[in-house]
Amino acid sequence: MSKQKVLITGGAGFLGSHLCDRFIKEGFHVVAMDNLLTGDIANIEHLMGHPDFEFQHHDVSKYVHVSGDLKYILHFASPASPIDYLKMPIQTMKVGSLGTLNCLGLAKDKGARMLIASTSEVYGDPLVHPQKEDYWGNVNPVGPRGVYDEAKRFQEALTMAYHTFHGLETRIVRIFNTFGPRMRLDDGRVLPAFISQALRGEDLTAFGDGSQTRSFTYVDDLVEGIYRLLLSDYAQPVNIGNPQEITINEFAEEIIRLTGSSSKISYNPLPKDDPKQRKPDITLAKEVLNWEPKYTRAEGLEPTLEYFKKKVLG
Ligand code: UDP
Repeated sequence: MSKQKVLITGGAGFLGSHLCDRFIKEGFHVVAMDNLLTGDIANIEHLMGHPDFEFQHHDVSKYVHVSGDLKYILHFASPASPIDYLKMPIQTMKVGSLGTLNCLGLAKDKGARMLIASTSEVYGDPLVHPQKEDYWGNVNPVGPRGVYDEAKRFQEALTMAYHTFHGLETRIVRIFNTFGPRMRLDDGRVLPAFISQALRGEDLTAFGDGSQTRSFTYVDDLVEGIYRLLLSDYAQPVNIGNPQEITINEFAEEIIRLTGSSSKISYNPLPKDDPKQRKPDITLAKEVLNWEPKYTRAEGLEPTLEYFKKKVLG
């Protein structure tokens, strides 16, 4: 019997490539699709030549076709770091809107179940803390982050419309700050920035006064949550994230300590609309998926540091 097929858009990206690994491990035939705008073939090089893996170099914002039966679609294509979507605002909006529409159309055609990668950014600069799925958010649609936040909000609305109007099987995961090997060194996010600065002995550039908070999830925990959500029968959005909250200042100190660096912290202006605090309420994920994170930040940072050491120090 031939294996069930799963399409993973953004398959050469940080999260997409980890999902490819997981679905290969689970015995699926994986089609990874990526236009390599922010993805990197190096992330999936180890899967090339695997009989159950294929790569399609394609922009999902354009018409999408996959031959044969399709069991699942996971739509993970998108620039995902603030500097990436500031540099590529139109592509970000296209992949969240047209890309999602193309995937939903394909899912409907194939009778596939579709899971979309949504984000804690749908909560914007939240006025409710921690963030629960029933919070509608505080997003500036015309601010610099609006292209990402609104594309993801539109993506959720479109996915729900296909679910209610066409009866399509859909799943929505709201992903909080996630880290691990295969993050891009230059994606501008705080973790790659701080680790590479610490390893090079440069100042760690905290934005604002560094009092803003984030809650960092190790990638393996996220992948487990996504896998459980996909297999569940729950169609409403679910937060997947580690509620261990930390200020950016504390995080900088932690990275300096873990790398044994002599770097100091310096302060740069806070980007516009930068959320002041972020922490997932994961009551729902615990209830419907029996999921909670297994890795502490320190445990996840170990393999992540190893990965970045090779990248930075060679
Ligand atoms: N940040 C920082 N220094 C950097 C990069 C980011 O202090 O070099 C801050 C940023 O302002 C934000 C937090 O770290 O408050 C997380 O930023 P990131 O870009 O990683 O993700 P976000 O959660 O904002 O999407």
